Amino acid sequence: MPFGPPPSSERTLRAPAAHLADLAPYDPKYLPARVLLSANESPWGLTESVRACVLAALADREFNRYPDPLAADLRAQIATYCGVRAEQVLIGNGGDELIFDLLLAWGTGGRRLLIAPPSFGSYEIFARLTDTEVIEVARRADKSVDEQTLLARLGEGDIDLLMLASPNNPTGECLSCDFVERLLAASDAPVLLDQAYLEFADPVYDASPLLARHDNLVLLRTFSKAFGLAGIRLGYLLANPAVIHELVKVRQPYSVDSFSTLIGSAVLADLDALDERVATTRLERERVAGELARLPDARVYPSEANFLLVSFPGAAVIWQRLYEDHGVLVRDFSHSPGLEGCLRISIGTPEENDLLLEAMRKVVEAPV
Ligand SMILES: *Cc1c(COP(=O)(O)O)cnc(C)c1O
Repeated sequence: MPFGPPPSSERTLRAPAAHLADLAPYDPKYLPARVLLSANESPWGLTESVRACVLAALADREFNRYPDPLAADLRAQIATYCGVRAEQVLIGNGGDELIFDLLLAWGTGGRRLLIAPPSFGSYEIFARLTDTEVIEVARRADKSVDEQTLLARLGEGDIDLLMLASPNNPTGECLSCDFVERLLAASDAPVLLDQAYLEFADPVYDASPLLARHDNLVLLRTFSKAFGLAGIRLGYLLANPAVIHELVKVRQPYSVDSFSTLIGSAVLADLDALDERVATTRLERERVAGELARLPDARVYPSEANFLLVSFPGAAVIWQRLYEDHGVLVRDFSHSPGLEGCLRISIGTPEENDLLLEAMRKVVEAPV
């Protein structure tokens, strides 16, 4: 054997980057179920008219060609929908990709991201992936942001990027535009205000009017929630063109494919369906919140989104009974820091919500 022994299974693998050592791959905690209320998805698929429009448009698309990196047509459509200029829009492969891109541009190499947990888990995971230091200002016991502490920490001047969700996932509440404006004035770091659930919220929480006055404001939106397109991976952000200029350097040029762009355009052309679905979800949210609040010892947190955070004594057991005995899947956060005893329940169709409530009553009233 002139070249030494052949490769054997005993050969070890060179270690990957050191900062991956303590990371676990993302787990969406998906399980097959009769009623899926765990991922804040829309319970409704494409409308008949959008489906027909997509099928017709498919026939003319040249899928042998690369997509337009910035999807000029969709970009213009999003700009009109949001009341901004096209240069203020950047699309991504889901909102998640844009969060990652922000960290590639403003994080890395020990630079600092400020967050207010409990919030969306991707901020911290992507920060660790990009070797960005995470600084936390924890929320209060009632899950609200500790505004003074957050402002003071940001004001120290060593923060490179801030990420906050409004409505926040998984707690459901929004930040006032007054407070957002104070954050924007407290430093020159980009402030990502993640508004993935904005469509379900009171319009007073739409921070887009602040874009005109603050170059460091970045708003994140997505087609995954109210628009019902979690399966195609399409999100966008609204920001000053100088921010977008930096992000275009780090983003993968073809991350959004022609097919997703086509569906996004079709859905944006059918806003009546969106309005009707959002109105139903908001009504259902209040109905489900009222019913859950009547269960013994339940605490329902106020929500501006398409889900409710609820705490119960014995939440983990309730989660298990809902799933195993009734086929209703909700998200168990009861072992997460700051969310002890909490379940997050997405709002489904009225029929699904009835099934949830019926199952919940049986589970909570059953002798343990
Ligand atoms: C769902 C969600 C997103 C983005 O989801 P994508 O499917 O990647 O667009 C962003 N932020 C929050 C808080 C979310 O809940």
